[in-house]
Amino acid sequence: ELTQLRVGLGERSYDIVIGPGLLAEAGTRIAALRPGARVGIVTDRNVADRHLGTVEAALGEAGLTPTPVIVEPGEKSKCFAVFEQVVDALLAARIERGDLVLALGGGVVGDLAGFAAAALRRGVDFVQAPTSLLAQVDSSVGGKTGINSRHGKNLVGAFHQPILVLADTGALDTLPLREFRSGYAEVAKYGLIDNAPFFAWLERKWEAVFGGGPARIEAIATSCASKAAVVSRDEKETGDRALLNLGHTFGHALEAGAGFSQRLLHGEAVAVGMAQAFRFSAAQGLCAPADAERVETHLRTVGLPTRIADIPGELPDTDGLMGLIGQDKKVSRGALTFILARGIGQSFIARDVDPAEVRAFLEGER
Ligand code: NAD
Ligand code: ZN
Repeated sequence: ELTQLRVGLGERSYDIVIGPGLLAEAGTRIAALRPGARVGIVTDRNVADRHLGTVEAALGEAGLTPTPVIVEPGEKSKCFAVFEQVVDALLAARIERGDLVLALGGGVVGDLAGFAAAALRRGVDFVQAPTSLLAQVDSSVGGKTGINSRHGKNLVGAFHQPILVLADTGALDTLPLREFRSGYAEVAKYGLIDNAPFFAWLERKWEAVFGGGPARIEAIATSCASKAAVVSRDEKETGDRALLNLGHTFGHALEAGAGFSQRLLHGEAVAVGMAQAFRFSAAQGLCAPADAERVETHLRTVGLPTRIADIPGELPDTDGLMGLIGQDKKVSRGALTFILARGIGQSFIARDVDPAEVRAFLEGER
């Protein structure tokens, strides 16, 4: 029932294991790599309440020495103050070279714990045990770690690859539906980027993916394999790793416009952004309008938003959104860089998008 993939990065290559029951196997799997190690388990309170006991027991039985470090749930924990607390707690637990940091949680815990591992004693090994769908298909793979600054999200961090990723698909049973749906937007993204058969499969099987069981494992494995392949080709995002930003230029502007709040989760913003990227591509004559409609229909079917009007509360006007798009790091000089599409599974990097065309498109969207 387990799927195993490998991220190929020379001597820093690592395995991603996907399937149910992996948190209970964390001890034997980690002990096989670092026998007798001390393990600082960074997690948040929500995940600790549900899964920490399983992991602590598994590590103890395998002869490892676990120390939990529990932070508050939510994006606010990706900050300097909590980073300092985590690093101090790991030092107090005497985590040294040869020991490990285990990130047990969603993308917030993964980014925070990974950055703590990168900085602690100039780098200790770390293992990702992602427990949200978003973390399992996206943030736990690829080695980007970091925290937010008052100047913006993810502005302080490091590339630090894990030595192992354990994606326990059973842990998703305790994830709130809205969080699952938000992570599903990133799953659909992999189909839309370059895997049309996968998107068609999702259109048929999405209910089984939401329900759990083999279809869920398959969807996560396919998504991880896509991300792992891109990361193996382009670790530091100089080339086609940028394709992973499909839906994220519009999406980030909306997320920022909503103040990065619970009003609009990341994957919800990406869902609107992907639908917009396809509508914009259709408006530019790049892709068939029927493809843009198909994208929108599927996202709406699973309960994701696809239009600005679907987002509750006030958002900036078109000029405000253009300003936020301009602040996006995917901008170079006057022209905007967008991920656009010639069809489902045919996304490409467009480096010379005219801001006036984007503005006219957004104006027409409201
Ligand atoms: P999150 O970590 O805040 O998790 C979402 C919520 O679900 C939290 O309340 C968490 O406590 C809860 N949760 C997680 N697993 C659970 C479980 N099994 N049962 C019950 N509750 C559970 O958010 P996220 O969506 O997982 O990740 C978002 C973060 O990931 C953002 O900070 C984003 O910047 C980052 N990210 C990083 C990368 C990367 O490449 N490093 C990529 C994408 C996103
Ligand atoms: Zn994303």
